[in-house]
Amino acid sequence: MLPDTPKYQGRRRQMVQRLRQDRGIRDEALLQAMEKLPRHWFCTETLLDDLLYDIDRAIKIDCDQTISAPATVALQTQLLEVKPGMKVLEVGTGSGYQTAILCEMGARVFSVERQKVLFEKTRRLLSALGYTAKCFLGDGYQGITEVDYGPYDRAIITCGAPFIPEGVMSQLKVGGIMVIPVGDDKGQKMYRIYKEGDDPEQWRQECHGDASFVPMLPGRNY
Ligand code: SAH
Repeated sequence: MLPDTPKYQGRRRQMVQRLRQDRGIRDEALLQAMEKLPRHWFCTETLLDDLLYDIDRAIKIDCDQTISAPATVALQTQLLEVKPGMKVLEVGTGSGYQTAILCEMGARVFSVERQKVLFEKTRRLLSALGYTAKCFLGDGYQGITEVDYGPYDRAIITCGAPFIPEGVMSQLKVGGIMVIPVGDDKGQKMYRIYKEGDDPEQWRQECHGDASFVPMLPGRNY
């Protein structure tokens, strides 16, 4: 793991400044977490330093997946309205960067990943860094099925879903919020869904612009 040098810390300060000034990110707990957490600990690809903290750059990780761009992580997390102590279900653990940001904000995170290689590697990394997020290997379309930790206050989907997964919605509290990119390879939009009741007619949707995520795939990959 690369050390967290003053150079990287400086890059993160610039990153946060841009998110605040140019992208309207106002959630102070989120900005603090992004300034504190070394994103480069979660990247496997060796990149020039400048690119590691470019706010619009997604970076390749194992299994042909990506760690979302900082601007995307910031937008999704701000939309999620996380408060300390909340139970958050995350679909797509990937590198664990988003998971760690949520932990830094005081959330209790339950994260599911379908790629076994990523699940094992990231679970180890998060625990080595001292995070108590619970990681699961499984198909996030069903939410988390192994143990019933729900219902969750929040759900964040970090892969592009073709539709709103009912399995996850059923594990979300009434009054809860889901943030999810919906679409296909021709285009995705970011949605915030307010679950105002159990009936899908009571799921109020807000669109928050274009998104570009790796696809949410069915089943798990051992
Ligand atoms: N939050 C991650 C983003 C990783 S990319 C990060 O910060 O690095 C999206 C991840 O979603 C990939 O790791 C992919 O394997 C996973 N994924 C795709 N479909 C899934 C599904 N049905 N269930 C669980 N994870 C899924």
